[in-house]
Amino acid sequence: MTKLEQCKELLGCWEQPDYRYRQILQAVFQQRVSRFREMTVLPMELRDRLSKALGETVLTLRPVRESLSGQADKLLFALEDNEKVEAVRLHYRKGWESFCISSQCGCAFGCKFCATGGLGKKRDLSAWEILEQLLYFHLQGHTLHSVSFMGMGEPFANPHLFEAVSLLTDPALFGLSQRRITVSTVGVLPGIRRLSLEYPQVNLAYSLHAPTPELRKRLMPVERRWPMEQVLDALNAHIRRTNRRVFLAYILIKNVNDSPAHARRLGQLLRQSPRELPLYHVDLIPYNAAERAGALFTPPEPRRVRDFYQALRQMGISCSARTQFGSDISAACGQLCAKED
Ligand code: SF4
Repeated sequence: MTKLEQCKELLGCWEQPDYRYRQILQAVFQQRVSRFREMTVLPMELRDRLSKALGETVLTLRPVRESLSGQADKLLFALEDNEKVEAVRLHYRKGWESFCISSQCGCAFGCKFCATGGLGKKRDLSAWEILEQLLYFHLQGHTLHSVSFMGMGEPFANPHLFEAVSLLTDPALFGLSQRRITVSTVGVLPGIRRLSLEYPQVNLAYSLHAPTPELRKRLMPVERRWPMEQVLDALNAHIRRTNRRVFLAYILIKNVNDSPAHARRLGQLLRQSPRELPLYHVDLIPYNAAERAGALFTPPEPRRVRDFYQALRQMGISCSARTQFGSDISAACGQLCAKED
């Protein structure tokens, strides 16, 4: 349990009035006060008691290491049981701050190109542990312009994901608009369907990474459980229901999935859904060498990325080639593995 959850329980045991917890949340989320003793809205005696019971600060997770690069900072956090997760802060020139957070310690899905997949799954994060990754940055004075579940783990494989989204959008906490949140999935169908119904404005990103089921199976074992054909049907239904854009992530790996023929095959696949096509956007991501993914794969040549992009554009597919911030500190896509040194 995180400290803020314990705090709520303690206040109940100490027979404090209900509004005390609301005052604490207000101090933390509105005034960015991280220490119990500095919550001047509380009586001194209560501040002391909370401090003695829970320690100085409201945060349960501890920052273990910070790696800084041009536009990306990576934070390694230790959780209460000393498991580690990573979060990345991306900052852009116009002052926009975007945060990529983790939903699980490790991951069970075993995608071949992913550092997290090499760890195996250790455990799910609780909703409040997910939230605390952002609270850390918030208490440092950062503004959460957008948040994406693209860190360690498959968000829809964590049963606490929906509670986490509910906390993120809670006006008493961060009050984030659904449109500022993106959930990235390898295609966990029950999660996609539930998000589409319960949080239709939250952005969905599907990690496709291959234009055919055969190739996808070689890269991503999840294709056997939830085939891309079924996932694309669910995404089409989501687009028709919500009229929201859907992002398709495609990691370009040299000599694996980066040829012009692959691009054409991908274009053909998407053109099978002419009605929904205008709302698909393909996000091309040059592969990042990830230590734990071994030496199996290598990044594509820049020329291949350009050719792939142009082939898709010529077929009328909306796409962009992502600039990879943070690859020098292993903070880029697929590189997070909570390594301590
Ligand atoms: S890409 Fe996502 S689902 Fe696949 S192993 Fe990595 S963290 Fe897990």
